[in-house]
Amino acid sequence: MIVMKFGGTSVANYEAITRTISIVRGKLGQKPVVVVSALSKVTDLLYRISDCAAAGDAAGANANIDALKSRHLDLANELLAGAGTCAEACAKIEEICESLRRFVGAVCALGELTDRSKAKIISRGEWLSSTIICYAMNAMGIATHFIDARRMIVTSDNYMKGEPDMAEISRRVPEVVNEAFKDCDAVITQGFIASTAKGETSVLGRGGSDYSASLVGMALDAGRIEIWTDVDGVRTADPRIVPNTRNISRISFEEAAEMAHFGAKVLHPMTIEPAVMKNIPVYVLNSMNPDGEGTAILRDDQIEDGVKSVSYKENILLLNIFSTRMINVSGFLQKVFSIFSEHKVSVDLISTSEANISLTMDGNQDIDDVVRELSAFAEVDVDRDKSQISVIGKNIVNLRGLLKQTMSSLKDCNVYMISQGASFVNISFVVDRSSMKEAVREVHKYLFEDKDYESSDQRIR
Ligand code: ADP
Ligand code: ASP
Ligand code: MG
Repeated sequence: MIVMKFGGTSVANYEAITRTISIVRGKLGQKPVVVVSALSKVTDLLYRISDCAAAGDAAGANANIDALKSRHLDLANELLAGAGTCAEACAKIEEICESLRRFVGAVCALGELTDRSKAKIISRGEWLSSTIICYAMNAMGIATHFIDARRMIVTSDNYMKGEPDMAEISRRVPEVVNEAFKDCDAVITQGFIASTAKGETSVLGRGGSDYSASLVGMALDAGRIEIWTDVDGVRTADPRIVPNTRNISRISFEEAAEMAHFGAKVLHPMTIEPAVMKNIPVYVLNSMNPDGEGTAILRDDQIEDGVKSVSYKENILLLNIFSTRMINVSGFLQKVFSIFSEHKVSVDLISTSEANISLTMDGNQDIDDVVRELSAFAEVDVDRDKSQISVIGKNIVNLRGLLKQTMSSLKDCNVYMISQGASFVNISFVVDRSSMKEAVREVHKYLFEDKDYESSDQRIR
């Protein structure tokens, strides 16, 4: 079996879905489990609907639901023109959108939106896309079985960012998928959507369909996990902000995980973990260029040393903690980190000096309680104007001169923090948010454009 995940742009419209279906058709011999995201931008629209619900703005919510419904109905009519199942598919879309309208109406009346309700709203995008694509696959001659991902992917009751229960997922997925394959050529399920142990809908966090795919792959012991997206593979930097990026043909699990964790949007940060557990190769491929080579993400010993990529996190928090009490007092760090752990705030970079600890963390986390508790015994400064840049590659710690050379490409901006060494694959810098994009371009230019990437290790020495 193989898992094929198609992201939002790969299922955005008629053309994209037709292309996606023909990619799946080419793999029927390998029993494809197809995992789909919501149509491009639909999850953003659902977030707007949930914002309206939270604000009690029923008119705003209804207008957005109208837009959601007509986009999906138009698409179903296009894809299923002439098929006997068109009316049935459209009735399902109607029902999904109208039950969403009733639910949102109730939330508006209540005047309160819990995470539990929000996850229900946000999850409708994948439900709609998988419904339409399943009909389209069947209409185009691929006997396809529809699976509700909530029967397979079980998470904690952190509704908006569920933590998967690996044991339960490993037990459920093979059971459900093997049963489904008894009478069909392919199965389709939703990315992103999961359920708590009690059966309530949860989601895996933004971009979580990649994670769904690798969880399904792990549970099935799949031959490969394919992440089909809108770029030719994992690249030397985000092509949206850096010109002249190159495709990377092979990288290690560790490098890919580090890139994703340190900002590369091409993969959800947790995608690699389940694949590593079973040593399943992950391929990142372009649905608009299916014959392209893509990127293979493989076991560490199959990958060469050297710099692979520059990633960035634009939205971070830099926390500076000052306390003269930490001088010569053992247990101070433990006290600080127990507060982060208690509030489930995860930290990216850390550096300490005599009376100061600097830490960076993802900017979307709520750190009010952490700051309040730290302030009881230390002076705390929260800086929201910084961004983080990471240079990633296997054993780059051995590339003598890399730090010096990278710093020289950052000569026009202030560097507030540097972290190297926690892993041998990552050197990170904190810079002003306003100069981040230019700095990423400069570092990339130095590492990959001015000289030959292939011989980067020799040149840096
Ligand atoms: P999907 O909807 O298919 O999941 P995403 O938008 O989540 O697609 O991820 C693909 C995008 O990731 C690309 O269009 C690209 O802009 C961005 N990206 C960021 N860093 C990288 C990188 N190093 N290599 C490739 N793409 C990257
Ligand atoms: N649709 C979800 C999102 O936009 C999940 C995904 O696309 O991976 O975040
Ligand atoms: Mg994505």
